[in-house]
Amino acid sequence: MSHVNVVEQLTAERNQLAKQAVQIHKFGGSSLATTQCIERVIDIIRQHCQLNDLIVVSANGDTTDALFHIYQQAMAQDSQLHASIDELQQVQAQLIEDLLSPASANRMLDYLCSDVHQLKYWLAHAPEQHQADLLSFGELWSARLLSAILSERVCPSYYADAREFLVINNERECLVDNQLSQEQFSQLVQPNKLGVVTGYICQDSEGKTCTLGRNGSDYSATIMASLSGALNVTLWTDVDGIYSADPRIVPSARKLHRLPNGVAKELGRLGNPVLHAKTLQPLTDHSTHLHVASSFDHQISGTEIGKFGQIAKQELSVTYLNELLLAQSESFIGQLGDEAQQRFQCVCGDNKAGYIVIHQQQQKAVSQWLASHDTEVSFTPAAIIATVGHRVIHHGDIKARFKRTLKHERVFAIADSAYEHSLIAVLIQPCSVELLNHVHHNMTKDVRHIGLVVAGLGNIGERFLAMLPEQLACIPLLENIHLVGLVSSKKALINNDGIDVSKAMIQFEHEAQHYDHELLMSWLSHHPYDELIVVDITPSEEFSLLYPAFFKQGIHVIGANKWAASSSIEHYQHLLATAKANKSLWLGNTTVGAGLPVNYAIQDLLNSGDSITEISGIFSGTLSWLFESYDNSVPFSTLMHDALSQGITEPDPREDLSGRDVQRKLLILARMAGLTLSLSDISCQNLVPESLQSLSTQEFLANAEQLDEYFASRFLAAKQNNQCIRYIARLSIEGETINARVSLEVLNNDDAFANLTPCDNVFLIKSQWYHDNPLIIRGPGAGRDVTAGGLHSDLVSICRQLIDRHHQVKLKSINTL
Ligand code: ADP
Ligand code: ASP
Ligand code: MG
Repeated sequence: MSHVNVVEQLTAERNQLAKQAVQIHKFGGSSLATTQCIERVIDIIRQHCQLNDLIVVSANGDTTDALFHIYQQAMAQDSQLHASIDELQQVQAQLIEDLLSPASANRMLDYLCSDVHQLKYWLAHAPEQHQADLLSFGELWSARLLSAILSERVCPSYYADAREFLVINNERECLVDNQLSQEQFSQLVQPNKLGVVTGYICQDSEGKTCTLGRNGSDYSATIMASLSGALNVTLWTDVDGIYSADPRIVPSARKLHRLPNGVAKELGRLGNPVLHAKTLQPLTDHSTHLHVASSFDHQISGTEIGKFGQIAKQELSVTYLNELLLAQSESFIGQLGDEAQQRFQCVCGDNKAGYIVIHQQQQKAVSQWLASHDTEVSFTPAAIIATVGHRVIHHGDIKARFKRTLKHERVFAIADSAYEHSLIAVLIQPCSVELLNHVHHNMTKDVRHIGLVVAGLGNIGERFLAMLPEQLACIPLLENIHLVGLVSSKKALINNDGIDVSKAMIQFEHEAQHYDHELLMSWLSHHPYDELIVVDITPSEEFSLLYPAFFKQGIHVIGANKWAASSSIEHYQHLLATAKANKSLWLGNTTVGAGLPVNYAIQDLLNSGDSITEISGIFSGTLSWLFESYDNSVPFSTLMHDALSQGITEPDPREDLSGRDVQRKLLILARMAGLTLSLSDISCQNLVPESLQSLSTQEFLANAEQLDEYFASRFLAAKQNNQCIRYIARLSIEGETINARVSLEVLNNDDAFANLTPCDNVFLIKSQWYHDNPLIIRGPGAGRDVTAGGLHSDLVSICRQLIDRHHQVKLKSINTL
């Protein structure tokens, strides 16, 4: 899904469900290792599968390793062979007994006994000829058991041994005979049941058992998708996605939420165990969706593999392979070298330098091939470490960084991958944990991608967006910010691949779709970024009610919207606690005084150990303008109409005159200063007389002269004493006693609040340190530029805090079971 808006994307998902398309679910060995793991898998199947879906399974846990070991013991005539077989049988028997009712368990145990009998026979007589047959028991047992549990507990189910239908040309190439396999498969399928199919195993054209290579069940899953026309394949494993390096070894690895097909293919080729090298092959000619998810925590969204835009293409990851061989020979030069690379599907090679890098088990085949060309070859143990990313061989800067990073290592050569998505360093010593971490750190710079959603596209929202391109270009901290969402009160445009910041509003006008909060939350909770920031520039209380849901998803909020910060004390504290618990950041510096740094001053004093005793000032630009301008030369109502026509007041000036906005701002500052105050703790003088309070806006404006007498008399009385009138917010803290009010006050003409530039705000802070001579912050407290600027200041501040955070991979299966 490269360019979809929220509505289309969700509608597509719903349609897909409605069509009840077949889905493939592959459970890896790690997901089926123990009784507890299998119980989890049953739960996942209950929630995510429907009849006619197909489940592909690997052998339980390490069964394939155990079978390999047994095979080697048989070849070496090891005396421990029978103990190993007993142990393997015991593990299987335990799973059967734990998970099935006694009647079914007895039947399964009988099957197991006869299988073990057969296994022993092959091991005793012709192990070499039966290696694949021996290995196939792992998947066979696993499929048979899971299907029996499903039949007993969940729904009708059958199991299918893939050797009965899946035909490949040979084990080296593993090319599927699609037609024959499909024909045979269609005869096996049982409608209205859940099919459980063995991964990893198949047959060749002569009917002999074959395997698809280690981790081959991933490939089985996508083959099954191709044979059944499934639209979705989920690889359920013990990690919640594909990481920028093996998370067991690199704790700072990041999840790659979206992986372009080519990059995924290259990762599989270079040994990433989550994706077998050939996994993507069957998916190339139809639009099946592939994703990786954790069977240990199925609520977490995993990695999507598909076609994506620029943001996903920027990702880099690091992978390695040990136990390789570096083969050097004159025959690997020129055309013959190309032929060798193709034939042996080498990890990498260079037809000028005359080497190829192969897997150890290929040594014999390579030697034989070279013997026919009569040239000498030397084999040296080797390893590779690779930087993998979309078309990475064409990025000179990344190449240079890779070389610099490996400057002090013993590197035999650095090669471009034949598939353009990786740079491969050939090492003549194993790749160590330290090296992997060092290269990962240097290559990925621990970069995290941050999605930005802007909600509220009015006056300030538009200005914020207009400033965004230059901010992104100039401020290094914003390097990995991507604008991915625009939301107005009715429409939304969400684009996972990023919205062009220079054309954001135009794109919004053309492409935005109607949405509701449920749809919006549904997208936001599955966003594919490391972090997501919602900038709330709406005046909407309803939108502010989404904050708890944002925080629960770990989404950060920058709010210019005053509702949340001035909501009831219970709601406000719940918000703070939810944000904290989910490590969400919430900045709202523009809720009071637009861009003025009053919040910074308060927080800094508190963080530094000072204690605040008073916060007061003029917090409303509108009321500042009205009282600075009012000199009784024209009636107050005329001045108010004037302000209204200049856009200085709200469309209904009573919103300003009521004092409620100032009251909310004082509440926000009080809470910032650590007080647990409610709105009702702040007395508020409403400047609108009762007779005008319940009129319509129009009626109010028509009758506004009723305001005049009050203000004229207050003004004249003050003037007589060389004083003036101002609307003041005042909070004082004396020990346990807190006084808070917003009201019209009479001030001396030389008071700090008396002579402002009309529209300016002023904030006065008294504290233990700023006592006799208070701290005063003064300047424009409203306006497009300063408010949008203040929001940008919050954005930079959030990014700085996020950069400083050190994430360590936490995976339920691996380190937090
Ligand atoms: P399954 O049993 O489901 O087939 P595997 O054990 O084959 O799973 O592969 C999953 C393992 O791969 C994880 O335990 C993880 O530690 C490891 N792994 C190695 N590299 C990566 C990576 N880059 N991203 C995610 N997991 C990785
Ligand atoms: N059981 C096989 C293995 O361990 C196949 C797989 O798990 O995908 O390699
Ligand atoms: Mg695997």
